[in-house]
Amino acid sequence: MPWCDTCDHMVEDDQITDEGECPECGDQLARRKIPWHFKLMIGGTGVYLVWRAYQGIGWLVHHA
Ligand SMILES: [Zn+2]
Repeated sequence: MPWCDTCDHMVEDDQITDEGECPECGDQLARRKIPWHFKLMIGGTGVYLVWRAYQGIGWLVHHA
């Protein structure tokens, strides 16, 4: 899904106009990529969840 800088959110593939524009502001989105900070946020969330799962397993091992 492309990112709209103007609206500051991602645009669903099926909401993009036939011209590849944002349905809300009309910005050209076809060549835009997801910004790095959004990827960082996704990656950070993934690492956090893995860490929590790791902690949970450790707790179970020690309290079983
Ligand atoms: Zn937009």
